[in-house]
Amino acid sequence: MSFSRLDICDIPLYRFSALDNAGLLHAVTTRHGRGETPFDLSFVASDSPRQVLADRKLLCDALGVPLSALTVCRQVHGARVAHVDAENRGCGAASPDTAIADCDAMISNESGAALMVLCADCPVTALWDPRNRALGLAHCGWRGVVGGIVADTIAAMARRFGTKPGDLIACCGPSVGPCCYEVSADVADEFATRFPDGGCVIDDGARLALDLRAAVRTALMDCGVSPKKIEISGVCTKCHNDEFFSYRAEGEGAGRFAFVAVVP
Ligand SMILES: [Zn+2]
Repeated sequence: MSFSRLDICDIPLYRFSALDNAGLLHAVTTRHGRGETPFDLSFVASDSPRQVLADRKLLCDALGVPLSALTVCRQVHGARVAHVDAENRGCGAASPDTAIADCDAMISNESGAALMVLCADCPVTALWDPRNRALGLAHCGWRGVVGGIVADTIAAMARRFGTKPGDLIACCGPSVGPCCYEVSADVADEFATRFPDGGCVIDDGARLALDLRAAVRTALMDCGVSPKKIEISGVCTKCHNDEFFSYRAEGEGAGRFAFVAVVP
């Protein structure tokens, strides 16, 4: 399994071999598009909506999907899951006002729907059920993970599409690594309680660090996803801030890169 760069139409994009091999069109963007302008895909983070729209079009062109299929939610670090169907497909593509409200995960089996989750340190996890051709995409910030976003997304897929966790291929994108993710004792306690065997809190005596990816992996396995079908990118967004936006590295001014996946 690998997470590697493959440029399309001169745009640097990363892909998971596990998803490629299973026939799921997807990409993780970087902070670079064509030319010098930052490839910031968030209307909320960017101060140039026109540039965001142009970059989203460029991304859609590269993936061969229409902008009208791009579906975006207004992420709130919660655990609510939205079902994307013919009605709300395309919401949030061209304006933040139409994004699916108060939601951090989307699921869909609507052919052609392109789900996009934005991030600047948080792991985004794609869940692909090849048997039922159903997709889930979850923004796994620490609040969402403690709140059960991984289990809730899988449960919603099971309910709607008949997904069996054992069939799922789960891929978790670049995120701030334990190398750069110091947390307060309160946050560390929440994770130690929620994932007692997860090894997601690292205490070196001087500081407490969170391995959020380890927590995501544990949450996936607790739901019945096979460890052989889990691929986690080890890329730390803060260490690789030259390539990815990072809130921890850049603060309020950080742009957002995206994990996009398209229901076949
Ligand atoms: Zn790091």
